Amino acid sequence: MNRDRFPQLEADLGKLKENLAALQERCKDSFVGIIGVVKGVNAWPEVVRVYDGMGFSYLATSRVDQLKKMRGTGVQTPLMLIRVPMRSELSDVVALADASLQSDPEILRATDAEAKRQGKTHGVLLMIDLGDLREGFWSAEELIDAAVEVEKKLKNLHLLGVGVNLSCYGSIRPDKRNMQGLSSLALEVEQAIGRELRFVSGGASTSTYMVLDGTMPGRVNNLRLGEIGLVGRANYGCDPDFTHRDVFTLRAEVVECRDKPSFPVGQLTVDAFGHVGHYEDRGIRRRALLAVGKVDYGDWADLRPRMEGVEILGASSDHTICDVEAVKDRIKVGDILEFDVNYGSLVNLTNTPGVELVTKEEKAQ
Ligand SMILES: *Cc1c(COP(=O)(O)O)cnc(C)c1O
Repeated sequence: MNRDRFPQLEADLGKLKENLAALQERCKDSFVGIIGVVKGVNAWPEVVRVYDGMGFSYLATSRVDQLKKMRGTGVQTPLMLIRVPMRSELSDVVALADASLQSDPEILRATDAEAKRQGKTHGVLLMIDLGDLREGFWSAEELIDAAVEVEKKLKNLHLLGVGVNLSCYGSIRPDKRNMQGLSSLALEVEQAIGRELRFVSGGASTSTYMVLDGTMPGRVNNLRLGEIGLVGRANYGCDPDFTHRDVFTLRAEVVECRDKPSFPVGQLTVDAFGHVGHYEDRGIRRRALLAVGKVDYGDWADLRPRMEGVEILGASSDHTICDVEAVKDRIKVGDILEFDVNYGSLVNLTNTPGVELVTKEEKAQ
């Protein structure tokens, strides 16, 4: 970690902890527990340590390499894989994760066989697809059959519960209807296996609003939360007033700052990515060129300049172009500009080796 290297992404661990604690308290009031999802920051060890201290039932990610990273840093909380496993990775999944999401009877049997081989019991959460069309059993009957098979026959699996994923592919909003669907499915599974399920998991950050406005059906007792803890908000109107939106700060260095025309000069064709650009002729303007680009954060529209008067105009792989006409007396070559990031850019920034990751705590030392 080098504080003088840019581009740099800083995590304010104190603010993150406050976000997680505030969400945990509100969920607790509705008898909803949290599985902490850390894939949005590529299981960044210092960030994971904050999650690890929260007393969540599980920490979760969608990728085996991140599970490995967490095992390597001595995480205490049990680990869950929240992408349905590939058959080809089952030995790693069973070795590294205590539990996984599952949606296929064959993979359940293969996971059981692998757990037996490793002398382990592996927890499974069976996913139902209630319309979003990503993972999950489509038929409730099939899911119940699988649940009974896990309970009665697959001795090295433990059925933890049922879950649903929404608003990922099909952009389906979590609502009373699909949450009640999940609740009644849970009841049916419980009747079929003759015991209560530990988890009835009602989705991700986009389901949080139902906890906050008190509309989450009683049987739903768990959410798997990533985005809302990390960046303080989620889609579909989940904009709590008790979360920090600025846990993460992107810092980039100005490598050129001079007056230039705002409209490109010459024959307009397509940019480096084959796209046709749109340019507004505003005359000669001061512009700052930053040494950070699409390779680092993905889409420049996912960044928001902290300094008022700075406007992002566009980007290429390794450069970002900003209009700074309104603040031209305040910016020069070598300066560092700060940006808020959203979830999409956070995922990118933490998955590329060119971005220096630093934490606020360490800065104070
Ligand atoms: C990513 C993911 C989550 C967490 O999603 P957020 O929107 O970041 O809260 C939960 N469940 C599953 C299955 C996921 O893939």
